[in-house]
Amino acid sequence: MCGILGISGFEDISPELVSGLVAIQHRGQDSAGVLTYRDGRFRSHKGTGHVSQAFRKVDISKLAGNIGLGHVRYATIGSTEAIDAQPFAVNYPFGIAMVHNGNVINFVKLREVLNDQYHRMVETSNDVELLLYTFATYLQEKDLGNLSKEDIYESVEFVQKHVKGAYSCITYIKGKGFLAFTDPYGIRPLIMGKKETEKGTQYIFTSETVVFDYLGYEYVRDLEAGEAVFIDTENRVHSRILKRERPSFCVFEYIYFAREDSVFRQRLVASERVRMGKALEKRLQEAGVYPDIIIDVPNSAYFFASGLAEKLQVPYRRGLAKNRFVGRSFITANAELRKHVVRQKLNPIRDIVSGRKIAVVDDSIVRGTTSRHIVNMLKEDGAKEVYFVSASPPVKYPCIYGIDMSVKKELIAANNTTEEIAGKLNCEKVIYQTVEGLRDLYRDLPICDACFSGDYPTGITQEILDQIEDEKLKSNRM
Ligand code: SF4
Repeated sequence: MCGILGISGFEDISPELVSGLVAIQHRGQDSAGVLTYRDGRFRSHKGTGHVSQAFRKVDISKLAGNIGLGHVRYATIGSTEAIDAQPFAVNYPFGIAMVHNGNVINFVKLREVLNDQYHRMVETSNDVELLLYTFATYLQEKDLGNLSKEDIYESVEFVQKHVKGAYSCITYIKGKGFLAFTDPYGIRPLIMGKKETEKGTQYIFTSETVVFDYLGYEYVRDLEAGEAVFIDTENRVHSRILKRERPSFCVFEYIYFAREDSVFRQRLVASERVRMGKALEKRLQEAGVYPDIIIDVPNSAYFFASGLAEKLQVPYRRGLAKNRFVGRSFITANAELRKHVVRQKLNPIRDIVSGRKIAVVDDSIVRGTTSRHIVNMLKEDGAKEVYFVSASPPVKYPCIYGIDMSVKKELIAANNTTEEIAGKLNCEKVIYQTVEGLRDLYRDLPICDACFSGDYPTGITQEILDQIEDEKLKSNRM
């Protein structure tokens, strides 16, 4: 998962790019990068870590430009090194820069074609190179002296036809215009905003609307599946749906990835989570579970837990105190040490949990490791019964579209029944939302729910699943 941002303006937008990346920092903490354009030149800086770390020693004024792209990266595949950080650029034709969010699934084939047929050297394992080179390769065949909007649309269509997977891209073509486009399924978000300035309307594209709140932009709209929006050098906005398949917006954006104050397709993430929480009531009733209190796994599960508590009319309590200064827990090799790290991060509040039947709500259960530690801590601190409630259905299938769940053997629900999972987690019961229950909430919004249902909108073959798993294992992010 990554966060992207692009601004086409009139004055220096580099400070906006850096601040905007901070707003979507939760989408990637491995690296951050900014590229701007001014006076015929691209200027860029990329670094590893959080935005504050990557830009700590950078004089932002040296990146001054009126057009620019920004990126924060979580490397689901590929290295976490600065070489794999975005934005990327090529100098022919024109000079084209690009950022993207998503995952290309036919990367093996594309690398071969780009290397062997088009003599483009793919240097990194970052998918943006594949998207950028495919786009540039088609564009360079056009009449470059008279490049038209149609030529640009055709080049996007070429990408949509040949690059399989999920991708939302923002691109600047030097001296020609600013471009944003999505894959034919619209799996990853891409949202357009604008701001009126004395010199005219300034446009922005990004992964989450929270960036608009930070930077004072007004929401225009979400890009549709297969759509391209092109802003020409006269600042005129053109758009077209070029290649459209079954629209399939990633439902996990609502469940976990996005900030609760972001809005996708007119739906506030916080309200969606409350709705999903309320819908869990039915599942608890079916399971015959009547808890004394509902607690959440901080921070993403708060709205699910409060929605469920409201519906059940059972008190919600903050039963786990979170230490926000403790980072990723499972890099620690030793199991005993790992246990302590989890307690450092999430510590039960003994007076709240002791002697009670507790329903602990989380957004999902992926590997189950943290869930097991949480249940054990709650029991050590006196909880009478613990029911682990997942706001999403069992994650049984790998995500091939850029979310860090791409190895099937890691997914606890892919390899165990619900009863077996309860045994492994050491809790009384595990209660999941069902696929049907989730779909009921989204009858009016076409979603991707492939990690729960196995119904991949793009289609999939075992060969591609194996290639993605291999690449993931190579990248050593386990
Ligand atoms: S498989 Fe799951 S996480 Fe991946 S895009 Fe689809 S809904 Fe989102």
